[in-house]
Amino acid sequence: MRIVELDGLKYERTNPGAAIKIAALSFFHLFFPKEIRSMNVSTVEPETETAQPGPKRGRPMEAPATRLVDRAARQGRTVVRVGEVEIGAGRPAVIAGPCSVESYSQTLEAARAVKAAGAVILRGGAYKPRTSPYDFQGLGLEALLILQRVRKETQLPVVSEVLSTEDVDRVAEHVDMLQVGARNMQNFALLRRLGRTPKPVLLKRSPAATVQEWLMAAEYILAGGNDQVVLCERGIRSYDPQLRNTFDLAGMALARQLSHLPAIADPSHATGRRDLIPAMSRAALAAGADGLMIEVHPDPGSALSDGSQSMDLPGFAQMMETLRR
Ligand code: PEP
Ligand code: MN
Repeated sequence: MRIVELDGLKYERTNPGAAIKIAALSFFHLFFPKEIRSMNVSTVEPETETAQPGPKRGRPMEAPATRLVDRAARQGRTVVRVGEVEIGAGRPAVIAGPCSVESYSQTLEAARAVKAAGAVILRGGAYKPRTSPYDFQGLGLEALLILQRVRKETQLPVVSEVLSTEDVDRVAEHVDMLQVGARNMQNFALLRRLGRTPKPVLLKRSPAATVQEWLMAAEYILAGGNDQVVLCERGIRSYDPQLRNTFDLAGMALARQLSHLPAIADPSHATGRRDLIPAMSRAALAAGADGLMIEVHPDPGSALSDGSQSMDLPGFAQMMETLRR
């Protein structure tokens, strides 16, 4: 028998000597912490891991000579297509809309206004990653159906966040682009799953990720066969309580320099303050951003999430006017 169960843990015998070690361990295991007990025998990955597609259990995937995200991996830059919209083709693409889909009328009103102001993709959260489990978690499927109706009504392609592997098919069926939120940037099972979808992915940078870690997260999606990935800088954790995050424009510029993937900036989450969005949007475009993602709400004061960093409709229109100059 190759598999041995010991104190609720499974072990694989790697060589004949391991059988003796296991016998000895079973006698002494009460006196040692679990980490020490697992020495000299290789642990067996849970059954669910073996069901995952991708690399064989325990064996790493063969790395390409050049990472797929690296600029040297291809000639020219990648253009990501979201419906009819191209991101990375030269003209900055503005994605705008509410943090959360709250109702049909709220989403439609925001969508019509952002489109009139020049936005080319509608955003709206259906499944929300909230710090507190008692905060609004999103309308789920109802929100996806609202997005689908508003998309039909306005002809704007739609991006929405997918929180877990089990929701990928459902979200992909209703939207044009799948967002990986900052908190999920290193959810490797989700990244692998998105590597196998035909939909483009908006990969937000984790507030604690280095540029290398961010690019490696993108590598997971590319390695799965999906090269339609847009990087999104949304601020990293820092120490100033007046700013939700620190907007790392140098990190965004570096990611664009190291990779052929387009990179956009999200000044809403990066600052947490609507009054800073116009200046930070101009700065992002000056730094080479392939686009912007901005939270816009018809009545930010009543928003169920992220109201303080959401622009109202006239404010957004005015800012878009100044960006065109
Ligand atoms: C969002 O886009 O509303 C969001 C939750 O973003 P992030 O994952 O960057 O916090
Ligand atoms: Mn938000």
